[in-house]
Amino acid sequence: MAMSTEPLLSEMGAPGRLGASLPELDVPETPVPEGLLRTALRLPEITELEAVRHFTRLSRLNYSIDTNFYPLGSCTMKYNPKVNEDAANLAGFTDCHPLIPEDLAQGSIELMFGLQEMLKAVSGFDAVSLQPAAGAHGELTGVYMIRAWHESRKDAKRKRMLIPDSAHGTNPASVAMAGFEAVTIPSSADGGVDLAALKAACDDTVAGLMITNPSTLGLFERNILEVVKIVHDSGGLVYGDGANMNALVGAFRPADAGIDVMHFNLHKTFSTPHGGGGPGAGAVGASSRLASFLPGPIAARKGVNRGSGRGSRETSGDYGFEIPENSIGRVKSFYGNFGILVRAYAYMRQLGAVGLRRVSENAVINANYLRVLLRDTYHEPYDRPCMHEFVAEGDVAAGVRTVDVAKRLIDLGFHPPTIYFPLIVHEALMIEPTESESKETLDAFAAALIRIADEAKSDPQLLHDAPHDTPVGRLDEVAAARKPVLCYHCD
Ligand SMILES: *Cc1c(COP(=O)(O)O)cnc(C)c1O
Repeated sequence: MAMSTEPLLSEMGAPGRLGASLPELDVPETPVPEGLLRTALRLPEITELEAVRHFTRLSRLNYSIDTNFYPLGSCTMKYNPKVNEDAANLAGFTDCHPLIPEDLAQGSIELMFGLQEMLKAVSGFDAVSLQPAAGAHGELTGVYMIRAWHESRKDAKRKRMLIPDSAHGTNPASVAMAGFEAVTIPSSADGGVDLAALKAACDDTVAGLMITNPSTLGLFERNILEVVKIVHDSGGLVYGDGANMNALVGAFRPADAGIDVMHFNLHKTFSTPHGGGGPGAGAVGASSRLASFLPGPIAARKGVNRGSGRGSRETSGDYGFEIPENSIGRVKSFYGNFGILVRAYAYMRQLGAVGLRRVSENAVINANYLRVLLRDTYHEPYDRPCMHEFVAEGDVAAGVRTVDVAKRLIDLGFHPPTIYFPLIVHEALMIEPTESESKETLDAFAAALIRIADEAKSDPQLLHDAPHDTPVGRLDEVAAARKPVLCYHCD
């Protein structure tokens, strides 16, 4: 692969060059015990300025939501307001140790309680646990809860979990981790769940269904009420994958459709940072029949939900924690990713109910605006109004694939959208603009994609060789995944 011409850190500096001047030793010199120091590391000896320049240069190679448009479908890469960072950095939060007595952490617990209440209002669920650290973790939590519910009814034969073929890969993974068998349900021609196939699959061995609404095709499940009824009638429960709530806040409450348990991706819908593997927050909400199975501790307020569950303790403050009656137990140490919870709380409080609804409306408008700008150039397999994202196909000319279009977008200054997902769309290009982008950005992005479609016909090699202007050129993605090179000198 073609690396940039910038020097590697290990090639910089010269022996004896220092980045700091330490005071003279005023204690006896003690040798470092044998074996503690790694001598094989070729660490450079450099000045402070060289180190600053090196890391500043590296930071400028980063592509981020703070520098450019990031239309990554299924991931909701929206702007993270900086005021959220200020809130999360308040000393009262950052200095609050998780083992501090509850009496001395009333503000932090009140914040968790307030966030739970807002998530309940948005979703219609009876109770919310803030424990899980990501969406996938929330899925696993919800699937464990469904398992525990069937076990509590001594219904041991329910071992199959139904999953539509448009689902995110984490769904079948969560199901397998919980010891269920994942059963794929095909989509119908309009992109929804195939009701006949669902009915055929439902019997007394079905533990439940996991459904993403809107689906990863960006389409609202028009038959959601019927889908839920079919599963409930067979004795199963319905898990909602809430990763796509950015389209629905203030307009549709999943619990009203009969969903039993669902995760929120606070790092997608409620604008907390994500990417690079976290930390995230995958709060889980549950309807009345599953609420008592939620993981704890859950923040509680005297006179609201304190004192009923097991494990609640008397404190002098108004706020404390409790473990729900039939809880599956903890799924995370302490209280979840608290700093992320502060950011989500700040975001929701700042916007309020009306603001949150407008966010969703604008996310849907932006996606439909882009969809219509592109539909004459990129084939859209489900050509109907979308929610917050839509799927098109990138094979715009003979011999040109979606990956070529995506790589060429990098040359034109855009992060590529999600590609080759969902799996049921051939050469998928999955675009989510989010509400936080301006019309000018959307116009420029559409213009870039239309230009690339022209290039695909006139000069396809330009696309095959892209990207051209980046520090690293076209990668061998298979080799990068199978034989990753994880250090500068792997000899
Ligand atoms: C992002 C996503 C997930 C997983 O969430 P993480 O927070 O990344 O673990 C699950 N389902 C869908 C539809 C998603 O988009």
